[in-house]
Amino acid sequence: MISKYQDKLKLITPYLSLVILLILISLIIFKYFMDFKNNSFKEINYLNQISKLNEENLNALKEIRELKENNLNLSNLLANEQSKNQLFENQINFINNQVGQLSKFVSLDKELLKKYSKVYFLNENYVPKNISLIDSKYTYGGKEKYIHTEVLPFLINMLNDASIFGINLKIISAYRSFMEQVGLKSQYTIVYGSGANKFSADQGYSEHQLGTTVDFTTDELGNNFDNFGKTKAYNWLKNNAYKYGFVLSYPENNKYYIFEPWHWRFVGIKLAKYLYENKKYFYELDQKEIDQYLIYIFDRN
Ligand SMILES: [Zn+2]
Repeated sequence: MISKYQDKLKLITPYLSLVILLILISLIIFKYFMDFKNNSFKEINYLNQISKLNEENLNALKEIRELKENNLNLSNLLANEQSKNQLFENQINFINNQVGQLSKFVSLDKELLKKYSKVYFLNENYVPKNISLIDSKYTYGGKEKYIHTEVLPFLINMLNDASIFGINLKIISAYRSFMEQVGLKSQYTIVYGSGANKFSADQGYSEHQLGTTVDFTTDELGNNFDNFGKTKAYNWLKNNAYKYGFVLSYPENNKYYIFEPWHWRFVGIKLAKYLYENKKYFYELDQKEIDQYLIYIFDRN
């Protein structure tokens, strides 16, 4: 009985082993499959998460880009506004400047740069806006002397600088009213040239009525200033007076009037410099050309 059973067992053992082996293999495959599946799931999950993160990242980048764009737009807008403001400011400055020039021009006395001739002369009612007393240390003779207030600092600068160079200059005559001029006419003996371009004495001297003109002498010459043209002082003025805005009204060989080396008129630094550099004199310029310098007459450079 036992042997019969044993025989049977012997017979089925290989099959049984095979079945067990198959089951074992199946189990291993199943386990492997399950592991693989799990891992796959996890992987897919990770991939999903990554792609989600990527998407979020992309969105964030998009937002940043948009913000940057907005920022850029705002910057552009701001720059635009700023440039508009600058333009506006420039326009305002330009207008202010124009208004300044215009009011300066309106407030300036047109007579100050006029040429006086037979057809144009100062009338008896003309008086300068303001005149100031010249310190007596700069003048010759006891009488008080006055000059146009705005010309005074130019004159004093010139006299101070001259004295630094050892040049002795004294003012013998400055502002003269119309009535004083009439009085002088009878005192002076003036040699006139003949012809249409020569002035009459009172009109010629009317430059003194402007308050911008001075006659110079030196301590040595005193009242005999008709020899002023031979002095070192005259030579210094010829080369330097323009720097202070003064010019000789009637230089040697001028077409209009006798040579007056002592008679210097203030025309402003700009015009004086122009005349000096171009070797011209005031009376040979056209009035229109002279008028362009009026606005600069009291400028310091
Ligand atoms: Zn004079």
